[in-house]
Amino acid sequence: QTADVKVLLLENVNQTGQSILKKQGYQVEAMKSSLAEHELIEKIKDVHVIGIRSKTQLTANVLKHAKNLIVIGCFCIGTNQVDLKYAAETGICVFNSPFSNSRSVAELMIGEIIALARQFTDRSLELHKGVWNKVSTGCWEVRGKTLGIVGYGHVGSQLSVLAESMGMHVIYYDVVNLMGMGTSRQVASLDDLLQGADFVTLHVPETDETKNMISTAQIEKMRNGAYLINASRGTIVDIPALIKAMQSGKIAGAALDVYPNEPGGNGENFHNQLNDFTEDLRNLKNIILTPHIGGSTEEAQSAIGVEVAEALVNYVNFGTTTQAVNMPEVTLRSLTLEEPNHVRVIYIHKNVPGVLRRVNEILGDHNVDKQMTDSRGDVAYLMADISSVNVSEIKDLYQSLEDLGSRIRTRVLY
Ligand code: NAD
Repeated sequence: QTADVKVLLLENVNQTGQSILKKQGYQVEAMKSSLAEHELIEKIKDVHVIGIRSKTQLTANVLKHAKNLIVIGCFCIGTNQVDLKYAAETGICVFNSPFSNSRSVAELMIGEIIALARQFTDRSLELHKGVWNKVSTGCWEVRGKTLGIVGYGHVGSQLSVLAESMGMHVIYYDVVNLMGMGTSRQVASLDDLLQGADFVTLHVPETDETKNMISTAQIEKMRNGAYLINASRGTIVDIPALIKAMQSGKIAGAALDVYPNEPGGNGENFHNQLNDFTEDLRNLKNIILTPHIGGSTEEAQSAIGVEVAEALVNYVNFGTTTQAVNMPEVTLRSLTLEEPNHVRVIYIHKNVPGVLRRVNEILGDHNVDKQMTDSRGDVAYLMADISSVNVSEIKDLYQSLEDLGSRIRTRVLY
């Protein structure tokens, strides 16, 4: 029964998310702040669903008290505040919202491309100090210039459309072959991109391959007087190499939104956290330094609320794990639960040989309409839609599955 589902939302989860959950008839308790560990342990004992942002630490120690918890919603991008492995091994599914802020990042890129081309952040800083410096040398329109996008995923492809609408040519490089938006064109290598672009923006994930992806050798391949923007992850650009290239004039302007070591909260003295190159970085001309604000807009926050709340509802009501962070992705379409004698079985189990045979022996007494199973590491997830199950048989079905040694968690939805 949806009215029995208890939801605890911490850290002022966006109203858009709260109202989706309330509309389901769940019992929703929303709090503005996070909780200290002992308070969290007390609160989490009863709830089926918890929604958090980045401050609430869901460690194994906390989660072991969460006997009824089936799902965690991180209303943010990062998930390192949750012990994902422990959660998976105890049958707790985790969702986040990786792509709700793509448009916000793309728009910031457009702002920065124009700002760098016109050097207007420098002009503004000068005038704040009372210096009138009207110059046109080295200032350009962006129309007709080429933008090179590295990583043509959610952010990169959004940016591609916006840049073309300003009259820019767009080329992109990605490890995957992708259909370009508009008249943009994929190039075969990073070198091709660097040689062909006036502006280079980076939108790749942080991996072993992308660490220092842009260093001295790559910068040398760039056009003289090109611009570089990094709003992906701090490790992707070799910052000392960038500093040298800007000091020599090879790079005419740059924008950084991300850094190798970012502080945990606002107000911390970032200057002290960086190595000795900080001073050089801050003294450069035509460099925009922002504190990881690419996705920080009201619209992105509200979209995160919707995306995560909908994932939670789909998981609670239907067991769907699409886009889950720590579980295999399993879904079955055309759910027929409203029909009499139809149930959906969710069986999260250890990924060991022989489980499916034993499960299907149990399910085999009924008519299995559809079934899907997938695994991720040590955990596997089975979903089966079954007809011809009387209400009186549901308890037995549930108990037989619970009795199997491989069981992590069983749910029967009807
Ligand atoms: P995405 O997963 O949608 O796209 C990433 C793209 O990079 C994919 O198309 C992938 O194939 C490609 N790729 C992976 N490795 C590559 C490589 N070695 N060379 C070339 N291409 C490669 O991700 P997204 O949502 O577009 O985000 C991109 C990056 O931006 C991520 O690192 C993300 O964390 C970061 N991001 C930053 C902010 C911010 O506030 N600054 C906000 C959102 C996302």
